[in-house]
Amino acid sequence: MQLIDTHAHLTDARFESEGDRILANARKAGVDRIVVVADAMASSVQALELAERHSGTLWASAGVHPHNATQYESDTTQHLQELALRDHCVAIGEIGLDYYYDFTPPAVQQSVFATQLDLARALNRPVIIHCRDAYDDLLRLLQSHPLGSAGGVAHCFTGTQEQAWALLDRGLYLGMGGVITFKKADELRRVVRHLPLDRLVIETDAPYLAPAPYRGKLNEPAYVKIIAQRLAQELNISEQAVAEATTRNAMQLFWINER
Ligand SMILES: [Zn+2]
Repeated sequence: MQLIDTHAHLTDARFESEGDRILANARKAGVDRIVVVADAMASSVQALELAERHSGTLWASAGVHPHNATQYESDTTQHLQELALRDHCVAIGEIGLDYYYDFTPPAVQQSVFATQLDLARALNRPVIIHCRDAYDDLLRLLQSHPLGSAGGVAHCFTGTQEQAWALLDRGLYLGMGGVITFKKADELRRVVRHLPLDRLVIETDAPYLAPAPYRGKLNEPAYVKIIAQRLAQELNISEQAVAEATTRNAMQLFWINER
C-alpha cells in the first residue's frame, strides 16, 4: 500500500537530527512520498533543500503562512517565484487566513494571501490553503483572485458541508488530517462521510495535530496511515481503496508523476 502525506512541516526544529528515523518510520508505514510544507521564506528554502536531498521521496512547497504575513516584503514575491520554478517545488503554500490567532491584522493577511494566489495562478502552480475562522473572507478572496487550472487544496479541512462544497466548487481538493480521529469531531465526520473520494487527499500536518491515540504527542508522516484507516472506516470502503484514490489525487494535484 502506498500513501502520500500531502502536508508535513519536516523543517520544524522538533525534527532536527530526527530526519532519518522519521523517514524510515514513514517508509515502514507505506508512506513513500511526502510534501514538505513551508510557512515562511526561511522554511521555503529549507524545504526545497530537503526535497532535493531526498529526491523521489520528498517534495516542497514555498509560501508565507498568514501568521508570518508581516514578514512579506517587496522582494518576497520575486524570491518565491525563483523557488517555485525549481523542479522539487510542487506548490505555493501554505498561504491563507487565520483569524483564530491574533498574530497578524486581517487586512495584512488578506493582501499577502491575494498576492500569493496571483503568483500561483501566473506560474500555473497549485496552492496549499490554510483557513481558520475565516471561511467567508477566504471564499470572497477566491472569487476576486480565482485559482488557475492548477487548483489547490484546502488543508486540514474542518468546516461544514456547505463550506466543503463551496471550496470544491472553486477547484480545491480537501485535506483530511488528524482532526477526523478526535473524539469530539462527530460533526466533522458526518460531513466527511458525504465528501467525494476523488477530491480528497490525506495529510498529517506534522509535527502538529497528531491523530488519536497519539493526540498531543509529536506527529510524524507515518501516522498518515491512521488517517487513511479512519477515512476508510467513515466512507465504509477498504483502506486500499482510500490509499489508491488519495495517492492518485495527490499525484494529480502536485504533478508528482511528471517529475
Ligand atoms: Zn501546516
